[in-house]
Amino acid sequence: MTSDLIIIGSGPAGLTAAIYAARANLNPVVIAGTSWGGQLMTTTEVENYPGFIDGILGPELMERMLKQAEKFGAKIVYENATRIEKKEKFIVYTHQSQYFGKSVIVATGASPKKLGIKGEEEFWGKGVSSCATCDGAFFKNKVVAVIGGGDSAMEEATFLTRFASKVHIIHRKGEFRASKFMQERAKSNPKIEFILNSIVKEVQGETVVKNILIENVLSNESNNLTVDGVFLAIGHIPITDFLGNQIELTETGYIKSADGVKTSVEGVFVAGDVEDYKYRQAITAAGAGCKAALEAEKWLAGHV
Ligand code: NDP
Repeated sequence: MTSDLIIIGSGPAGLTAAIYAARANLNPVVIAGTSWGGQLMTTTEVENYPGFIDGILGPELMERMLKQAEKFGAKIVYENATRIEKKEKFIVYTHQSQYFGKSVIVATGASPKKLGIKGEEEFWGKGVSSCATCDGAFFKNKVVAVIGGGDSAMEEATFLTRFASKVHIIHRKGEFRASKFMQERAKSNPKIEFILNSIVKEVQGETVVKNILIENVLSNESNNLTVDGVFLAIGHIPITDFLGNQIELTETGYIKSADGVKTSVEGVFVAGDVEDYKYRQAITAAGAGCKAALEAEKWLAGHV
């Protein structure tokens, strides 16, 4: 199948790019993935996406974006991109097929790293989260734990003190890799308490999180900590495996961009969390998807 534009990824970035590209008559093909929709498919209430006064469920928001893209003619294929090749055109391979495009937008996102412990999946979206900006407001006057020792952990913990009555930062080492400034800000916040040299072994609860099992790695002592929420801040993994070495990445594995959307390969654009390690919001990803589609459209106009 040949198209002007192939969009790889179907989160807010990919689907917004699809809406814009379809309305510009670029007949985009969206390689959506076998499990499409991105991170919002595993969230519950989204209260900060503009236009939804009473909030909207993450999967419903994605369903709406998908339908909107299809309404304007985007073709969605539920396959995983395995490889991309540049010949006369770009070829995107999936396990089942090959798609030919004059240009490509990579919007494959990033997966939050997980601990891989008992209860983590079961309570995902029911107290376990990887985004304080998204879910912090659900924890008014509650006790939460933030796992990690980097800048994200410090930033998320500090942000969560706006809502929570207490925030525990739990870190597996005795010192942090977070910048001095971020550490100091967290340390001077009276609502934040530190539990160091400790790992979380299990998340427990009923319908929602009730407590976590912690083990001190120096003493091997275990204890139960009562919390209402667990925020993972242990890093993200940008999804770029299928690109091989063809597009320049940053030291931390994100796609390197000029202007946020142009990659090192002409005709290949990027949008969303696979490029943006900082903001990671549905709305910023959607904005990036819009920008990437507009840039692709402009580029295609000069490369007929
Ligand atoms: P980082 O990779 O910097 O930190 C991850 C933290 O999680 C580390 O402390 C690490 O521990 C810990 N960790 C990793 N895996 C596990 C595990 N399985 N169990 C327990 N702990 C684990 O990620 P961040 O998201 O914090 O930051 C990513 C990048 O974004 C950095 O460059 C950061 O500076 C930047 N950033 C900047 C911000 C700002 O300037 N405002 C805000 C947020 C991020 P250990 O230290 O032992 O390896």
